[in-house]
Amino acid sequence: MGRRKRPLPLFEKVEIIDAGSDGKAVARVDDRVVFVPFAAPGDVADVQAYKKRRSYFEAKLVKIHKESEYRVTPECSHFGLCGGCKWQHMSYESQLQFKQKQVKDALERIAKVPCEKFFPIIGSEKQYYYRNKLEYTFSDRRWLTDFDPSKEEGGPEDMNGLGFHLPGMFDKILDIDHCYLQRDPSNAIRLAVKKYALEHGMSFYNVRKWEGLLRNIIIRTSRNGNLMVIVVFREETDKNKGLLAFLGEEFPEITSLMYVINDKKNDTINDLEVKLFAGEPFIVEEMIPPGNRKEPLTFRIGPTSFYQTNPEQAQKLYETAYGFAGFKGDEVVYDLYTGAGTIASFVAPSVKKVIGVEYVEEAVKDAYDNMELNGIANVEFYAGDLAKVLDEEFIGTHGKPDVVITDPPRAGMHEKVVRQILNAAPEKIVYVSCNPATQARDIALLHEKYDVLKVQPVDMFPQTHHVENVVLLKRRKH
Ligand code: SAH
Repeated sequence: MGRRKRPLPLFEKVEIIDAGSDGKAVARVDDRVVFVPFAAPGDVADVQAYKKRRSYFEAKLVKIHKESEYRVTPECSHFGLCGGCKWQHMSYESQLQFKQKQVKDALERIAKVPCEKFFPIIGSEKQYYYRNKLEYTFSDRRWLTDFDPSKEEGGPEDMNGLGFHLPGMFDKILDIDHCYLQRDPSNAIRLAVKKYALEHGMSFYNVRKWEGLLRNIIIRTSRNGNLMVIVVFREETDKNKGLLAFLGEEFPEITSLMYVINDKKNDTINDLEVKLFAGEPFIVEEMIPPGNRKEPLTFRIGPTSFYQTNPEQAQKLYETAYGFAGFKGDEVVYDLYTGAGTIASFVAPSVKKVIGVEYVEEAVKDAYDNMELNGIANVEFYAGDLAKVLDEEFIGTHGKPDVVITDPPRAGMHEKVVRQILNAAPEKIVYVSCNPATQARDIALLHEKYDVLKVQPVDMFPQTHHVENVVLLKRRKH
């Protein structure tokens, strides 16, 4: 006979003490940490544990006895289920305050490095509809909420859904009515595609059986009105063209209509051919250059190229990085994790030369196009994994950098990359990061030769727990 599992505890009237670094609020009960999603610091609440680990519990908010002073009413009807905007129940001012704290905590606890100047976080003017890119996922097994009317009536007729993954669940998709993250016509396109697909008997993907025709839809917008829609199908069928033609007619504002056939098990399209159905194979975004340069910088962004998802805040992020570097004009700069070369174009006219390195080959092609578009000639790009590309030979060939600007993905830099930067020993490192924890880990290693002079958090993602952070490191004299 198996052991009966002991029920996990209900913790009564616990005080929530922090907003947490991964979107789950934190309480402490008898020296044990309890993570409570959708709670707010200052709440006093009953929380039911549903998962027990050696040093912590995960618990669900059951009853709030006292509401936190930071609480506000969330805008979105999907709040509480959707993985997207987990801090909507906290005022924007308090979100900023806790993001700032997240960066500070990471530097103190993980990097354990003193910092000369810690600037207050730069908030985002737009608190909703700030994203220029969203990816929606099709599923033939949408997640049924407790309030789903069809649940009462002996099971729903239609289980198809188009929306976002539930947090941490690769196979559960929440059907979305209205999303507050991307401006119109993002919602209209998603709803129209779903309606068309159902009316025309196009099947929605089943991630467990790898069946179904429609997999994803990606919508990218730019501030000058460009609009890219990429539909991801599992296979080539007669119906695909019908859907694409419908989209083109229904939404004449689409400037780039593309599609992909993806019969792989994962959703990434970086390694697949993205085909053009109508319009241009890119969108165009603009940025104000630093200093006294007049002409705006223009960027062509192809379907698989990375571009910062909050363009207004990207401007502030780059200005911060540029300001921290304090160029004199004769520097050799490495722009690591360069994407479509946006930071490289931002700084190139102020320095001797820039060497950009990026993993995605298509992005490097875009990066070269962007240099040409902006009349910049002192930049070279290399495609490849930085852990392999950046070695002594590379540094020997291109010259030792005076400044390294690095902007890695959430995982931070590979240790080999950190070691090579230490070997190259530039005078300054400007570290742009979207994950303060991995940034702090890397800074702990860089501390061998570098001091942290300046720290500037920037809020690129209002309503979420995510925070971007720029750090200036300077090589010690001895
Ligand atoms: N600096 C750019 C892009 C930052 S996003 C900008 O501001 O727009 C991080 C980039 O790193 C992405 O373009 C991603 O494709 C790239 N990347 C991720 N892992 C990499 C690796 N191991 N080697 C090189 N580039 C990588």
